[in-house]
Amino acid sequence: MSKKTEQCLLLALRTRRCKVPTQFLCYNIFEENCKDKGTILIEQRRDNACYLQFNSFQLFPNLIHGVFTRDGGYSKPPYQGLNTLGSLHDGDNLDDVIRNRQLALHSLAIEDYPCVTLWNIHGADVHVLHVPDIHNNWRPDWAHHSYYTQTWKPQEIHKGDALITQQRSVALALSFADCTPITFYDPEAQVIGIAHGGWRGTARGIVAATVAAMTEHYGSMPSNIRAGIGPAIGPCCYEVSKNVQDLFMGRQHFEDMPTQEQYRGLVRESAAFSTAQLFDRESLRLDLWETNRRQLLMAGLLPEHIEVAALCTSCHVDRFFSHRAEHGRTGRLPVIMALSEK
Ligand SMILES: [Zn+2]
Repeated sequence: MSKKTEQCLLLALRTRRCKVPTQFLCYNIFEENCKDKGTILIEQRRDNACYLQFNSFQLFPNLIHGVFTRDGGYSKPPYQGLNTLGSLHDGDNLDDVIRNRQLALHSLAIEDYPCVTLWNIHGADVHVLHVPDIHNNWRPDWAHHSYYTQTWKPQEIHKGDALITQQRSVALALSFADCTPITFYDPEAQVIGIAHGGWRGTARGIVAATVAAMTEHYGSMPSNIRAGIGPAIGPCCYEVSKNVQDLFMGRQHFEDMPTQEQYRGLVRESAAFSTAQLFDRESLRLDLWETNRRQLLMAGLLPEHIEVAALCTSCHVDRFFSHRAEHGRTGRLPVIMALSEK
C-alpha cells in the first residue's frame, strides 16, 4: 500500500428497527471484527479525491472502478467538493468541474484514457460502446474543456441511462446526486457497464435492460455478471408521491418513453415501497436500492454477485451530493469504470 493510499473499510451499519443504515464507520482493512456488520465498501483516498470500491470487484485486477464521494476536489459551495457536473451558462465554475474530472481519473491512474459519458434522460436505453466507434461516434473528452466548448455532432450525442463496453483502456463516467449508480462486470465476457437508476429509470427497468444488452451484444450469461449498487437516496429519506407508486404498479403509464412491455411485470414485482408514520401523516417511501437489487435477481444475477452499499446520500450530505436534501443546489459525483489493457 502506498503512503498516499489510506485504505479502510467503510461499513454500512443497519439498525434492527428500520433496516437502513444510521451511520457508517471506517475500520482499518486489517481489523478482523468487521466482517459481519453489513455491506463492506473499500474507501480509497488518493491525492485530493476519495472513492469507494465494491469488495467483490477487487478480485479482478484488470477492472478499474471508483464510486466517488464529494470529499476533496476543487468546487466551492453549494457544489463543494468533487463536483463533475458543469454548464457553460450557470452552475459551478467550469474550470473547477474540469479539474475535478481530471482529478477523478488521475486518482484511478487512468488520466490518459479517453473518457465517454451519456446524456442521462431517466429512461431505459442502453448504449454500447464498440471498438471502432470511439473515434467516430463518441466524444472521448469528458475531462477536457472541449467537452463544453466544442460543437457536438448529432451522432455523438448519446441520450440514455446505461453504457456498456468491452473496449479496453477507455473510461466510462456517469454522474449522480441521489439516483442509484449500478456498476456491472462480467469477468467471463470481459464487459463493464454503468447504469443510472433514479426512480424513473428504475420504473422503466434500466438494470434489466442493461443485463439484456450485455447478453445480446456480448454474449454475457446473467449468472456470470457481478453488480454493485452504489450510494443513493435511501428509504429513510426518499418520500415519493402516490403517482410514483402507480407508475411502478402499472396503474398509470409514462406519457413519454413508456415502460417496455417486457419489463412491466418485473417493475411491478420488484417495487419496494413502504410507509412511515409521521406525527401528522403517512409518508410513502421508495427503496431504490432494494428495487434495483430485485430487478437484478429477476434478470438472472445470483444473489451472491450483487453488492448493495446501502448508503443514503440524503443522510450523508457531508460525504455525497444529494439533490433532495440540498434542494437541487448541489453537485454530481462521478462513477467511473474501465478495463485496463492487461
Ligand atoms: Zn436517508
